[in-house]
Amino acid sequence: MKLYGRICHDLNNITTEKLKASKPGVSNVQGKYICHQCGNTDQTLFFQYYCHHCNKETTYCRYCVNFGKAQSCKDIYIIESKRHQTDGKYRLDFELSEQQRIASENIQRAVLKYEHLLLHAVTGAGKTEMIFAGISAARQKGDNIAVVSPRVDVVKEVYLRLTNAFKDEQIDLMYEGQFAQYNSTFVVATVHQLMRYDGHFNVVIVDEVDAFPLEMDQQLMHTIQKASATSASHIYLTATPNKRLLSQFNHSQIIKLPARYHGHPLPIPEFQFNTIKETKLNPKLLKFLKQQIENERKTFVFFHDIRFMEKVFNIYRHYFSKIEYVSSIDSKRHEKVMRLRNNEIDIMFTTTILERGITLEKLDVVIVNTEKFNSSAIIQIAGRVDRKIAYPNGKVLCYHEGLTKHMMHAKNEIVKMNRLAFQKGWIT
Ligand SMILES: [Zn+2]
Ligand SMILES: [Zn+2]
Repeated sequence: MKLYGRICHDLNNITTEKLKASKPGVSNVQGKYICHQCGNTDQTLFFQYYCHHCNKETTYCRYCVNFGKAQSCKDIYIIESKRHQTDGKYRLDFELSEQQRIASENIQRAVLKYEHLLLHAVTGAGKTEMIFAGISAARQKGDNIAVVSPRVDVVKEVYLRLTNAFKDEQIDLMYEGQFAQYNSTFVVATVHQLMRYDGHFNVVIVDEVDAFPLEMDQQLMHTIQKASATSASHIYLTATPNKRLLSQFNHSQIIKLPARYHGHPLPIPEFQFNTIKETKLNPKLLKFLKQQIENERKTFVFFHDIRFMEKVFNIYRHYFSKIEYVSSIDSKRHEKVMRLRNNEIDIMFTTTILERGITLEKLDVVIVNTEKFNSSAIIQIAGRVDRKIAYPNGKVLCYHEGLTKHMMHAKNEIVKMNRLAFQKGWIT
């Protein structure tokens, strides 16, 4: 493995690679600290301690400490980037839909011209297949590629599909605890992992960019920028772009993809006033869940709060045999998701952890206290339903204790996208 285009802390780790530059991990510019590993300038994330090697105070950056400590008394090394051409061959087992083809051509064009693009694609549009041709074109030129997402589960899923299609490419998979094994010509990683690079990538494709907490947007953009070569194309894929992201693109750089790959419309959220209590059985919810079992359909019930969900779960667990709950702090979450995929769970109480990345047949969703969810979460949750062509007409049942702007916005967005897809003749 070579460390092309990477930041490294110890020159013993390189062999034939060339050193491009070295600089202190942290420096002080006009009274303000800046970290040269991650680019952080947030002064609250810099800390001092007494370094016994140099016998003086040293300043280090806590933001990127997981990638090796960047500190003022020690240099970091930027390794020269390298390019390597392949034939970019890939396999696709089906034909792209018209919408996917248009997207694919636009991505390919942007990649070749080093331009930026935002694809506003509905959930289930078949985004991954749209990027194949662009990746292929870039690899044929020898351009280095990173496909990144804020979420580990999305990264793993995308990696599986890319390795399946690009059998001859050496694809590096990177997330916390998972390290590169090749030379970083084609990287699939969490966005954070890009901090390891400097001036290396000609193409960065950011999947599910909205899954990143909004307050970290700035850092995310900065990390992508720093990891990119002087000539680089950035492609953003999202079902729910926020205003800040939209404002960074001009009209011609935004492509709307309103249709699902299978040609059925998006399910519309149904709002019902209904209060779910942690102390009392709710007859409406119980009846709905019993119907679901009778109809042999699966249900995700979404909650905004883990403790509340657990209490409510304790009421309903007595009525169903294949019922479970899951959250981000659940140590058995991977096992539970596996059981879900194996058809061993009918009803899953969940936090927003399951709002993306999972596709099940015959799935309906219930949102409890929808007024506590933002529009992006509502759109993502609704997007879990009707993903497979065989079983349309799924339900997105939104229990609430009062309509909010976010709820209305989510519904309007979905209705608008359906209308647009219909006008284009992409859904029936
Ligand atoms: Zn840093
Ligand atoms: Zn020192």
